[in-house]
Parts: sequence; structure tokens; C-alpha cells
Amino acid sequence: MKEYDVIVVGGGITGAATARDCAMRGLSTLLVERSDICDGASGRNHGLLHSGARYAVTDREGAEECIRENRILRRIAPNCVEPTGGLFITLPGDSLDYQENFVRCCREAGIDAVPISPREALRLEPAVNPELIGAVKVPDASVDPFRLTDANIIDAMRHGATILKFHTVTGFVRSGGRICGVKVSRPGEIRSKEIRARMVVLAAGIWTAGLARDAGINIGMLPSKGALIIFGHRVAGMVINRCRKPSNADILVPGDVVSVLGTTSDKVPFEDIDDIRATPQEVDLLLREGVSLVPSLSHTRIIRAYAGVRPLVMADSDGDGRSVSRGIVVLDHEQRDGVPGLMTITGGKLTTCRLMAEMVTDAVCARLGVKAACETALRPLPGSGKAHKDDEEVPYFKRAAIGRHGTEVSRMDFDLGHEIICECEQVTRAEIRYAVKTLGVRNISDLRRHTRIGMGTCQGSFCIRKVAEALAEELGQPLREKELIDEYLQERWKGITPVFWGDSLREAEYMQRTHKDEV
Ligand SMILES: Cc1cc2nc3c(=O)[nH]c(=O)nc-3n(C[C@H](O)[C@H](O)[C@H](O)COP(=O)(O)OP(=O)(O)OC[C@H]3O[C@@H](n4cnc5c(N)ncnc54)[C@H](O)[C@@H]3O)c2cc1C
Repeated sequence: MKEYDVIVVGGGITGAATARDCAMRGLSTLLVERSDICDGASGRNHGLLHSGARYAVTDREGAEECIRENRILRRIAPNCVEPTGGLFITLPGDSLDYQENFVRCCREAGIDAVPISPREALRLEPAVNPELIGAVKVPDASVDPFRLTDANIIDAMRHGATILKFHTVTGFVRSGGRICGVKVSRPGEIRSKEIRARMVVLAAGIWTAGLARDAGINIGMLPSKGALIIFGHRVAGMVINRCRKPSNADILVPGDVVSVLGTTSDKVPFEDIDDIRATPQEVDLLLREGVSLVPSLSHTRIIRAYAGVRPLVMADSDGDGRSVSRGIVVLDHEQRDGVPGLMTITGGKLTTCRLMAEMVTDAVCARLGVKAACETALRPLPGSGKAHKDDEEVPYFKRAAIGRHGTEVSRMDFDLGHEIICECEQVTRAEIRYAVKTLGVRNISDLRRHTRIGMGTCQGSFCIRKVAEALAEELGQPLREKELIDEYLQERWKGITPVFWGDSLREAEYMQRTHKDEV
């Protein structure tokens, strides 16, 4: 049986970036993900490419990491990043002294923070609360987490990595005290198979704590839930933050055609992490606070709400668990716990994923005696070449796909299928085929993550039958329409039920009647 150099456990952004780095350094790499790529926190966040300004006052190191990585990601993944810019606004009741200190801390961390007048802020971003008393411009941006994760996965595969989705790591293969592989099984299967490797890297977000426990290791982690709301259009063109100590609902991020408001921060028990969803109470709280940032949110249509869990790590020296780090945590379990063959990479942020991968891959290479240098900051990610979606000669059916996949569209066969299947997001048959063939899509929820199908204004109400039919054809399977639609709608309900009022309730009623056989 093949022995890999490295097995990476977890297919969120951290695992994807780690698999890319390992593969680029010539290590034979396997990534195991129990679900689809980006199904954990990586698919449930704001999509803010931090400039570091948010952390400048409280965490200088984190702020410096963010601004460095912000610049790198803009360079290597321009098709995943929208350079919106960001504003930190000070409202009546907030302190202008805080703003002054904030600007000083940003500059010390190397972040280009420029104070501007309230009038100038309103000119740049008419949606902000007109009562603002101060504003600072920073190089925040929006980043599509799904695209960024896909690009890392695709690059890892092109460098020889194997991606094993829908397989759960259920335990470890040991030899003496050494970890020398993992046991994996498919969902619902009792039998597991063993896959061997010289090194196993845990990159499983909040689930890392449970996996480490199976290896007899204690990593103090705290699941911190954050809830977010998606609004039906771009309320603002820039990222808008509140200039005060980080709190609830103080970030609004534009992404594609929608806006995301968040977030909250609440400790939740480990038993809840597999079924995490936003509650109506969290939606109320977010709206109450968010309206003071951007007043028009009070009458903007809400599409849905969702929630993710941050993998926060307690400092090793801190027995009572009060000191929690949002920083990057690399653990070499041979050094820390006397368990050779196992490493952990966790904490950090979506923004710092590349750096996290570099740090853990450096540690893996050191243990394996490999001398290859990290090149992930220098080599562009797939899709990042020059693609001009607005050029006149680009046909209408290719434009949205170029926006999503950049130069990867050259791998889509539009001659075979440019029929538009999802009108809101302009997803064609060619894009569905690409997602099935390149990204191993199995159902409509997977397809949504990789193409935005059903994420637009109608949320799938009008197109979902067409999508089911096209997907079944591309998978070469008989049409299991009820099963495909039911899976998708049950997943969507989780986000729609907390916002059941006004237009959202009317739309939900409509959806339920249209698909009464499936719901
Ligand atoms: C509400 C919220 C908002 C945020 N906003 C931002 C933001 O705007 N900008 C930013 O930079 N960061 C943000 N973050 C942080 C960022 O989302 C996370 O740091 C990052 O996504 C963590 O990625 P990960 O790959 O480590 O974990 P995850 O994305 O959670 O991935 C872990 C993966 O491991 C898999 N897994 C678990 N157990 C197993 C097993 N036994 N076998 C195989 N696979 C397994 C899971 O299915 C999952 O896919 C936010 C986080 C939250 C919660």
C-alpha cells in the first residue's frame, strides 16, 4: 500500500493551503475531508480580507500578519479578491481618542490608515450613517472563501496531491508511540481503511481538539460561534467597520452581489459544533447594531442568516482557559507531547491561510529532512491570469464564470453547454460540468459552494429543478430529483427560518408551495 509523505486532515482553507504548500515542495500529499471542501468555518465567515486594522490596537502581531498576507493574496489570487477598500467609522457615542490611537497603531503595524473627514467618507460611501463624526480609510478588501479554497485545492492537485472528499478520519494508525497514518471511513460505513504517511497534519478547525484527543493529546480549544446575515444586494461598495473595540455586528462586507453583516461571538459547547445555525435572537441583535453602521439595512431584504465556529486555542500555560488566542498555532506533537508523526495547524484567519500553511509545512519539512523552500507567495493560484470579463468580445454567458473562476474558464467547454441554468448567478451548463469534473461535486449544495448556483436573488426557487436535471446528467446518474432538491432545501431552510418575516416569509411560503413535494 502507498505511503504518503503527508496526510492533511481537513479540507477548509487551512488544509487546502497546507496541501498546496506540501505538494509544491515535492511531498507526496493526501488531503482527507469528511464532507465537501469549505464546509466548515471556511464557508461560514464574512469573506473579509483583513488589512489588519481590526487587530491593530489589540494584537500587533496579528495585524502585521494580516497586512502582509493581504498584499500577497491580492497578488497571487486577484480573481478571488475584490479590492473594495475599507472604512472605519466613528459614531456619536464612540470616542475620537480611540480613532486617534487606532490610526497610530495601524501605522506602527505597517497598515496604510488615512483619516478622512465625515464629508469625504459620505462621498466615498453614501450608505454609511450620516451622523458619523470620524472616518479612516484602510486597505481592507473582500475575498471569496470558496474560490480561494478551490484555487488552493486545484493547485495542490496540479502539483500531484490527492484529494479524498467525503471520507472521515476516525482514528490513527500507530507503530509503537508513533502516528504513522489515519483510519478513514465513508459516512455511514462502519468498516474503515488505513492510509499510511510519514507525517499527519491536523487542519480540522474546531474539530482538531476531538481528533487530537483520539491520539491521546489535549489541545485546549474553545468553540466560538459567530452569526452573520446576508442582505439581498450590495448596500455599500466598501467594507464598513465600526471604529471601536471589536464588538457585535460591526463589520459589513460587500461580496459579489450581496452584503454580509456580522458578527457575534459566543462560546458554544462542543456537542453543538456539528449543527450550528443562526438564531432569530442573533438576527435581531445583528440588525439592531448593524443599522447604526448603515441605516438602510433596516429596510433591505434579508436573504438568509448563517453561523460558523472559530477555532480558538487556549494558551498552553493557561490552565483556567481565560487567555484565548486568535493567532496562528502550530504544534509539533513530538516536541510538545512526545507523539512523533503528528502536527497541528489551527487558529489564525482566512486572511492568513497561506502563512499558516507555510509555517506548518516548514515544520513538516524539518521533521522529514526535506530542504525545499516555500514558494506559495511567489506563484499565482489557478485562475489568476488576466481575464477581462467586461471586454466587448466576451459573450454574455461567459462573463459571470470569468468573474468566479478567472482564467480557469479556458477549461470550460462552452461549445458543449452554454445554456444558462441559474439565471440569478448566470451559471451555465459548462460551469456545472467543470465543477463536477474538477471539484468532485456530488449534490446541489456542493454545486452551490463552487459555482454560487442558488445563492442569488431567488435562492433556487425558480431554477432548482433545472439544476437537479443538469447535475444528474453531468454526474451520469439517473435523475433523483426529489432526493437532490430535498437535500438542498433542507440545508437552505436552516438559514431562512431565523429571518421568517416580511418579504423573506412571503418568499419562503412561495418556495414551500412550489416545492411542496420535496419540503
Ligand atoms: C463567523 C466567522 C467570521 C469570520 N470572518 C472572517 C473574515 O472575515 N476574515 C478572515 O480572515 N477570517 C474570518 N474568520 C476566520 C476563518 O473563517 C477561519 O479561521 C478559517 O476558515 C478556519 O479554517 P480551517 O480550515 O482551519 O477550519 P474549517 O474551515 O472549519 O475546516 C475544517 C475542516 O475539517 C473537516 N473535518 C473535521 N473533522 C474531520 C475528520 N474527522 N475527518 C476529515 N475531515 C474533518 C471539516 O469538515 C472542515 O471542512 C471567521 C470565522 C467565523 C466563525
